[in-house]
Amino acid sequence: MSVIRFESIRKVFDGQLVLDDFNLLVREAEMKIVIGGSGSGKSTILKMVLGLVRPDSGRITLWERDVTQLAEEEWLPLRGTMGMVFQGGALFDSLTVGENAAYRLREQAELDEEEIRGTVEEVLGFVGLGDAIDKMPSELSGGMRRRVAIARSLVGHPRIMLYDEPTAGLDPITSRTICELIMKLRDLDRVTSILVTHDLKAAHTMAAEKALPGENGEVRFVPRDPDTPGVTQFVMLERGKVLLEGGEEELLSSPDPYIREFVD
Ligand code: ADP
Ligand code: MG
Repeated sequence: MSVIRFESIRKVFDGQLVLDDFNLLVREAEMKIVIGGSGSGKSTILKMVLGLVRPDSGRITLWERDVTQLAEEEWLPLRGTMGMVFQGGALFDSLTVGENAAYRLREQAELDEEEIRGTVEEVLGFVGLGDAIDKMPSELSGGMRRRVAIARSLVGHPRIMLYDEPTAGLDPITSRTICELIMKLRDLDRVTSILVTHDLKAAHTMAAEKALPGENGEVRFVPRDPDTPGVTQFVMLERGKVLLEGGEEELLSSPDPYIREFVD
């Protein structure tokens, strides 16, 4: 089933062509890793999935429903099925970790405090920060803050996850913990995702490994079977168009000079 589909999307900002006949298809439980230079339209794509930016022309379907012309009030329930980890993953510094994670729930005012507490404990537990619920963001490391940002996006059990540079600025070990969370969501919960990154090492980890349920709730990460097509594919953007789409092998072996400069 197609979960996210962009067909011939065009977007102009202030006379600048940002997306030009852009096509994208993400099926259920697949992950598309979008790479490309700064200003190539990566964040714009994620915002379009959320209905925060509208295309000038073309068609967007989510779960095979045409959402191109949806009114704002129709977007609201749809956004509730999606989680976004924004570039930088900013938290509210004056709120505790738990309050940060609960922010959207309190805003929606649909659950009582006990239900909110339960949800917050669940999402913080998922990212391994159950103990940090009453801490302030300033007491956390950069990697922990990023995990809180992911936890916050998981409220409501999203079926689509959008990650904007989730490992940017993190050391390799911390980056690895973020990659593992993302792989768990992809492989164990079968969440459909688009991930924007500059971090080719993190991208390699996510393309080459998969999460498996292990003994007593543990999760194992194993190399994926190289003979079957991976659920993780790359999309290389250049000036609003798809320059290359395929597996990591295709990306790394491409003779295209622009791609070579990016991956070498
Ligand atoms: P990337 O995430 O790949 O770095 P973006 O999608 O953020 O790129 O932006 C692509 C281009 O569109 C950039 O030149 C940016 O300045 C421009 N742009 C993005 N959002 C807006 C906006 N809301 N208004 C005007 N220009 C924008
Ligand atoms: Mg961006």
